[in-house]
Amino acid sequence: MAQQSLKIDHILYLLTLDGERRIIQDGAVLVENGRISRVGKAKELADARADRVIDGRAMVVTPGFFNGHMHISYAHPVRGIFPDEQASPLVHVFNLQSAMTEDEEYHATLLGLIELVKSGTVCFLDPGSTKFPDACLQAYEDAGIRVILGECVTDQESPWALPRFPPAEAVARTEGFISKWNGKLEGRLRAWAMPFSYETCSTGLLQALKRVADEHRTGLTLHHNTGEKARQDSVVRYGHTPTAYLQSIGVIGPGVLLAHCLGIDEGEIDCIARTGTTVAMCPVTAAKSGRGVSAHGRMPELLARGVRIALGCDSPNNSNHLDIVRAMNMAAIQYKDARQDLRQVPAEAALEMATIHGAQAMGLGDELGSIETGKKADLVCFDTLRPEWQALWNPVNNLVYNADGRSVHTVVIDGRVVVDAYRQTFADEPRLFAKVQEIGERLQARTGITFPRSKWPMS
Ligand SMILES: [Zn+2]
Repeated sequence: MAQQSLKIDHILYLLTLDGERRIIQDGAVLVENGRISRVGKAKELADARADRVIDGRAMVVTPGFFNGHMHISYAHPVRGIFPDEQASPLVHVFNLQSAMTEDEEYHATLLGLIELVKSGTVCFLDPGSTKFPDACLQAYEDAGIRVILGECVTDQESPWALPRFPPAEAVARTEGFISKWNGKLEGRLRAWAMPFSYETCSTGLLQALKRVADEHRTGLTLHHNTGEKARQDSVVRYGHTPTAYLQSIGVIGPGVLLAHCLGIDEGEIDCIARTGTTVAMCPVTAAKSGRGVSAHGRMPELLARGVRIALGCDSPNNSNHLDIVRAMNMAAIQYKDARQDLRQVPAEAALEMATIHGAQAMGLGDELGSIETGKKADLVCFDTLRPEWQALWNPVNNLVYNADGRSVHTVVIDGRVVVDAYRQTFADEPRLFAKVQEIGERLQARTGITFPRSKWPMS
């Protein structure tokens, strides 16, 4: 079916994120057949006609945002139940996740998708937490979003209720998942191999999953945190640091996305950079869970080595929001403070991670991540007629330091308008919100995982 053409005209500031990082004032973009067919000054595109024209005079337009580590499926119904000082919520997290029914997961996912697209995310990677992709497919399709999915597998003991299989079954499930899902939704759905972590998978399983990913020309992601203790354990067990261990077994390089990467040392940074491995970092989760970015965060060193980093929001009970604009803000400010050095992670680097570098980290940089002729048309239009955007001199600084995702006015994915003047049309929000609240009540009652709802008297 031929798609409507679209023109965004007289854009106040068009942040292309192209090779030169051009920022075009009074710019215009023409979208035809789901792709960007022309980009330039409005006067250069004056002859371009389109089925629909959006007035960009008050807008800052950016490429769509990428979220490289985002557990979408379980947390919305119980978001905010953990008290701040809950030392390790992970046991509860995985118990809640494993208790979700298909219907509950579908509705939690739908709410997550609304939050994602309304704050400008066009593509996210769910690191294996979705148990019922058949049920959720309709939600992804309705939202029009891009998604990278996989089945979480492990074959070793773990302190958490993770899905554990004999290695051959874990490989077969991954192979089956990728064969079934990769390329669905007109290519907007990608399927990857998703072992949970190196600690919870045998060497043989990790190697077999890498082979499966390579055979299908797709990616592999896993949780990867190291640090002093993990390094010592890993050296005793494997004779290498955790990252060097992955390299020694061949589970590294382009197509491998390491999530979090807190606590890595110089040698591990070097290993990631040399092998072309990519990284997803969740700055808000790191800060909120007190992970000690000043001691363990190495984003500046990874950036300096040219490693492609995507930002992530982890989960609605970790970050707890899904707003990549706020994640950009945290990435840009937390290292300035941690290092007491204002040169760390400039606003421009934060925006690159959310767009072009994030797309590259997720293996999609050839087609996405910047506003250039020939690329797929994923665009975010920010409404600057809001107090937080004033005064407007440097649109990158305003975006990263003043704004948040709530000023996202219009979102285009694959040439289709999925958020139109602040509204999505794929779900009835008040009904869904009530439903998800109900699911949260049922889930807590069923699992017995509850906490006092407030430290203050609530009557
Ligand atoms: Zn995770």
